[in-house]
Amino acid sequence: MKKELRNLIKILTSCYPNKSGLNFTNNYELFVAVLLSAQCTDKKVNDVTPFFFKKYPDFFALCNAKEKEVQKMIKPINYFKTKAKNLIRAAKLIVDKFNAILPIDQKSLLELPGVGEKSASVILACNNIPAFPVDTHVARVARRLGLTTHKDPHKISLDLKNKISKKYWISMHHALIWHGRTVCKARSPKCKDCVVSRYCPSSSIYR
Ligand code: SF4
Repeated sequence: MKKELRNLIKILTSCYPNKSGLNFTNNYELFVAVLLSAQCTDKKVNDVTPFFFKKYPDFFALCNAKEKEVQKMIKPINYFKTKAKNLIRAAKLIVDKFNAILPIDQKSLLELPGVGEKSASVILACNNIPAFPVDTHVARVARRLGLTTHKDPHKISLDLKNKISKKYWISMHHALIWHGRTVCKARSPKCKDCVVSRYCPSSSIYR
């Protein structure tokens, strides 16, 4: 890696927590939170999950849940009907095929209803398995920082994995999300408050 990129990684990863904004205490809770978080803020998910986990504490409970009741519990979440259906179907598959334990490998995760490449990568990363999930924040900040020119999340992930050492994939994934949420916002990036503005080709400060 080039010195500038090393410095940028060092600064960003030291400024932000190396953890997800979702609240969970085990892989069952992680799975539910990640599925609910598609097209939805972590805050909304974190508001709903404490009640959800109390009523459905594991995959056994969830696979026997009534779809209408799950819908009711997650109603504040976007696409709650589809997500309720996927959660129950996925729980049934995990109970039947994986002995009620969430499989922690990309291929098995992608077999589960509602799990795409990004969700699978987030689950892997939260289990400390090197992955570089790309959400809207990662995509935007990576483009502004000149780490990719792509718009497609898969291609962005490949660019980031090629440029950044594997040992930083997870911490940089988290750092780019936190940076995008708090400083490098979609509409009005706060370049004056940005700790990496000197390395950023999109910075408004030096123009
Ligand atoms: S300098 Fe501005 S555009 Fe670049 S990363 Fe920082 S906030 Fe984003």
